[in-house]
Amino acid sequence: MAEFEILVLPGDGIGPEVTAEGVRALEAIGARFGHDFRTSEELVGGACIDAHGIAILPETIEVAERADAVLWGAVGGPKWDDPRASVRPEQGLLALRSSLGLWANLRPVTVDPALIDSSTLKPEVLRGVDILVIRELTSGIYFGRPQERRRTMEGRRAAVDSMTYNEDEIARVAHLGFQLARARRGRVTSVDKANILETSRLWREVVEEVRPEYPDVELEHVLVDAAAMHLIRRPADFDVVITSNLFGDILTDEASMLAGSLGMLPSASLGEVREDGRGRGLYEPIHGSAPDIAGQGVANPLAMFLCTAMLLRHSCGLEAEAQALEAAVAAAIGDGLRTADIAATGEAGLSTREMAEAVLERLAG
Ligand code: NAD
Repeated sequence: MAEFEILVLPGDGIGPEVTAEGVRALEAIGARFGHDFRTSEELVGGACIDAHGIAILPETIEVAERADAVLWGAVGGPKWDDPRASVRPEQGLLALRSSLGLWANLRPVTVDPALIDSSTLKPEVLRGVDILVIRELTSGIYFGRPQERRRTMEGRRAAVDSMTYNEDEIARVAHLGFQLARARRGRVTSVDKANILETSRLWREVVEEVRPEYPDVELEHVLVDAAAMHLIRRPADFDVVITSNLFGDILTDEASMLAGSLGMLPSASLGEVREDGRGRGLYEPIHGSAPDIAGQGVANPLAMFLCTAMLLRHSCGLEAEAQALEAAVAAAIGDGLRTADIAATGEAGLSTREMAEAVLERLAG
């Protein structure tokens, strides 16, 4: 029997409602496949600020460092939203990413044929969409220094942000992209702005240097402005997309709109991957704490189930188990079951618990 330590951080708003279902999915996978998932739960975000005055406790970070994976709900809400506050809910997430050295953010975007009408794009554009965006997460313009306010010689206000990358930060993203493309359709699109930016020219150079190690994978370079356009004009042509922190931040949100609802999309943040292909990771739905529906029991739990499947795949090395959970989600959708966010206009949706039950019944087979 394989054993895994999972740290569960529900957070705020609908975070606790959806993580509770993620934990039930782990228990169901454990029962069906004979694994032992040991879960422990701690406060983060606004809930932790209220209890302890900070967004995550140092001892919670220590537990995360010993765990196989972290399952994250969502943090934030109107109560803690003052941008001038020195303590903010998202600091918990940033602290964890940096302590765990999570440098790659993976966002798969698929469009379930049964949900094709939930998107604002035309069905013929969306058919066959199956994209994996890998965004560099710990460098680039969000972390470059100097980042400061200045005064010009004339005393006018000015500001500076610095975009920096070194070759190792780029190479590890490129390797991950090529490796994951091998298990998919064998195609990598590297997105940069090499016609303008020096960091992008280095990005392109290093990706080209890594490329010969993966002769079986096709590579194309696309400028970020063109990529933004192609993502909505011909999204089905993309397989794996690798890109820097800033471009990834924007393109992943654009790509998420292909799927129609935020409640359907998972993400994983990964660090060092060991020889056996497994590595510690943090798994979170891309949606936030949804204060407008929190406490009503109507949040869509499917993004959390798909996060749990990613956790099984990337941190536990349990591919068959991951696929079983993804298949159960697809079966529930295929059978016409819907929460309100993905239901046809005017139709009442299932509650979080009802939707989760439907998936878990299909998982049990
Ligand atoms: P949001 O994702 O919370 O909500 C946007 C809209 O989508 C809302 O109408 C919400 O009801 C709906 N929605 C989101 N998830 C859903 C689900 N699972 N099922 C059904 N409907 C769902 O984004 P927001 O309103 O911009 O942000 C709310 C708070 O969440 C803010 O404080 C923000 O900072 C925070 N946030 C946290 C994270 C995180 O923890 N990683 C990520 C994004 C936003």
